[in-house]
Amino acid sequence: MKKFHEFEYKRPEYEQVKSKITHFIQVFKAAPSAAKQIECVHEINAIRRDFESMREICSIRYDINTTDSFYEAENDYFDKYEPLFQELVNQYYDCLVDSPFREELEGVFGKHIFNLAENEMKCFSPEIIEDLQKENAMETKHTKLISSAAIPFDGEERNLPQLSAYFQSKDRTVRKAAYEAYASFFSEHEAEFDDIYDQLVKLRTKMAKQLGFDSFVEMGYLRLNRTDYNAQMVAGYRKQVLEEVVPLSQKLLEKQRERLGLEALTYYDEPLRFKTGNPKPKGTPEEIVNNGLKMYTELSKETEEFFTFMEEHGLFDLLSRKGKMGGGYCTFIPNECAPFIFANFNGTSDDIDVLTHEAGHAFQVFSSRNYEIPEYVWPTLEACEIHSMSMEFFTYPWMELFFKEDVLKHRFSHLSEALLFLPYGVSVDEFQHAVYENPEASPDERKKIWRDIERKYMPLRNYADNDFYEKGTMWMRQSHIFEVPFYYIDYTLAQVCAFQFYNKMEENREKAWEDYKNLCNTGGSKPFLDLLKIAKIKNPFEAGSVQESVTEIFRNIEEIDDSEF
Ligand SMILES: [Zn+2]
Repeated sequence: MKKFHEFEYKRPEYEQVKSKITHFIQVFKAAPSAAKQIECVHEINAIRRDFESMREICSIRYDINTTDSFYEAENDYFDKYEPLFQELVNQYYDCLVDSPFREELEGVFGKHIFNLAENEMKCFSPEIIEDLQKENAMETKHTKLISSAAIPFDGEERNLPQLSAYFQSKDRTVRKAAYEAYASFFSEHEAEFDDIYDQLVKLRTKMAKQLGFDSFVEMGYLRLNRTDYNAQMVAGYRKQVLEEVVPLSQKLLEKQRERLGLEALTYYDEPLRFKTGNPKPKGTPEEIVNNGLKMYTELSKETEEFFTFMEEHGLFDLLSRKGKMGGGYCTFIPNECAPFIFANFNGTSDDIDVLTHEAGHAFQVFSSRNYEIPEYVWPTLEACEIHSMSMEFFTYPWMELFFKEDVLKHRFSHLSEALLFLPYGVSVDEFQHAVYENPEASPDERKKIWRDIERKYMPLRNYADNDFYEKGTMWMRQSHIFEVPFYYIDYTLAQVCAFQFYNKMEENREKAWEDYKNLCNTGGSKPFLDLLKIAKIKNPFEAGSVQESVTEIFRNIEEIDDSEF
């Protein structure tokens, strides 16, 4: 098989895609039998896999080098045609759910595809295509703005991920200066960020109203294919986090302040967990990847097969470079049955997270790569993060390869970070509910809302002399808020579920791995709460489940003696 850089890219011409799909839709509608319809579904899925493969290859290559004008133009092409392509898929959904042979079709394809199709149709109508295109273009504008950052710092121009590596500096003046430089980018472009977000919020609200929703909230949930929980259940869950996790996070931060020997723990001190510095991976990026291979070879025969495949086909781009898009992700190229891991190594423990977290995603999609139905390859996002965050725990026994003598320090900080993340994660979610419930709020009012939410979930957050953050702008660095509304609570839900995997592992590792494998193999063929049943995990919306998940974690953190760190 080819390597990633040899994968062929050819623009899927929309007119051709359209005529093929339309043809099979006609045949489907006129089909005299279930068998004929099943055949059409296979044909349509194959066309969709072609289109999606090209879109993914294009998007990865553009992210690897945002100054490549060829892939930039191709990316613009997808921005323009993606909604039209989605319209074709919706036409297919339309006839799928109306099929007189639905029962036979469900027998072959499962019920979930019908749920998803019905869901999708609720958030789409040809009347909103123009607005969807505008939304896409606005999201791309945001992406470009973020990756245009070239901030002079420590003798060089740095992009945002490169700059954020300094947040963990042991030198207090350095991390303060790094945060201020980072903030300066957002404050210089504050009006642009405000404008992009304001336009996005109004555009999304307009589309929601056109489709008959009261606000964008419900539409946002449907877009994320949440078929079995709603905003009210999420509000109850945030309350659990407020009551159970916020007090623990305050204890952790207070301990951190003592460890660092500071009178006040400010926002720029939070990322430095230890006076002697955060645990850093040892070795070059090549050594780290080689240790990754060793780790996955030893972990299980399934992970061995997976990681070898990734290596042999060049399915990683890990190093940070100028012009490369920030962040990290894992994606999937259907026609090649290939996951792809994109990252920006920066010499911090984040680099190891790429090998554990992103590799967890990649392992799942590799496990479910043979689903013929595109919708079943990935589950919804909150379930996806269970795969990745649990893999971070499954790989604990190998952390010594990466952290050497700092292995306990790593465990302490990894578990603490996971707990401390929950209050921040629910803040991002509560903020978005407030924004979309009051779409007419001004940018300044939004900032005030954010700062109030921070005070509720992160009462110890201290912005010291930084007036820009104090007025409520920290959310601007969270790209999800702009680009995928309501996608964030997912990380916290998954974290709580991954904690349960951690607790299971402590009891019986083999059994935990079995449950995890079953979860990964099921891919996206079931909705979230059904997947939890397959994984034998408690539903985090149920009262008491957050407390049950975090108690053991906190005890584990407290058991580690941090006085030597
Ligand atoms: Zn993830």
